[in-house]
Amino acid sequence: MVELNADYVDHAFREALLAWQLQHHATGGTVSIEEHGNTVFQNAGHQAPRREEATELPLPPRKEPLLVGVNKYHRRFAHHLRPLVHDLTQGQNPDSLFVACVDSRVNPNLITSSGPGDLLTLRNIGNVVCSDGRDASIESALSFALNGLRVQSVVICGHTNCGAMNALLAEAGGGDKSSLGPAFNQWLDHARPSYAALLAGHPVGRQAAAAGYGTVDQLSMVNVAVQLAKLQEHPVAGPALADGTVQATGLFYDIATARVFQVSADGIENLDPGFDAGRQGSVAAAGR
Ligand SMILES: [Zn+2]
Repeated sequence: MVELNADYVDHAFREALLAWQLQHHATGGTVSIEEHGNTVFQNAGHQAPRREEATELPLPPRKEPLLVGVNKYHRRFAHHLRPLVHDLTQGQNPDSLFVACVDSRVNPNLITSSGPGDLLTLRNIGNVVCSDGRDASIESALSFALNGLRVQSVVICGHTNCGAMNALLAEAGGGDKSSLGPAFNQWLDHARPSYAALLAGHPVGRQAAAAGYGTVDQLSMVNVAVQLAKLQEHPVAGPALADGTVQATGLFYDIATARVFQVSADGIENLDPGFDAGRQGSVAAAGR
């Protein structure tokens, strides 16, 4: 296994490596080349050498079977992780309860530059909470986070093209409510007030529309605001929010642009400091 992480690969290097690979194959060996950086070895044969950053995304999409990914983790990352988790072996002290959708494209640690021990994470369909005790998973996570671990903040994080929001819109359009099963349909009760809020002209929905987002993403942003409002009614979270011991924050992750917005009760704000606010609408529209 050759693990290649280079900022510059020229023709001479490529040919030398291929010659060595051929020679090794001729003697019955096998050679596989695994690239970790942004310089692509395969491109070196047909294009002029280019200098790229020899950096690796912290969590690039895995294009291989799960257990191959575990093998790669042990070879490349586990030894980096051990010193970081050394102080966490006896307990955790996360600063936030992070409520995210189950969607595979949303990675809470990646978009908050956080690591082991930072986020107590609750993931469910549509990143919802409830204040009426109807779901033991949500209730126990809130109690554990606020009463047990004394987190200082609760984050609700929505995202573009959410399956739960699409299901709500399909239902409103006369689609089959039971197509994903009775449990899914029942779960959507936690998000149905968000659709009603969008229809009623929620200011977050209007701002999302002005920024170029389509209906499903407007709904997703309104849903974040509605879940934040539910926290204020919650018997545990509500008093902690009211006396300021806990902060509630709404986030919205735009998958197409990899940007994060903050969602409040009455609006949205692009949190990318390099983003030109004047281009917000066109960029959002281009991501659709
Ligand atoms: Zn989702």
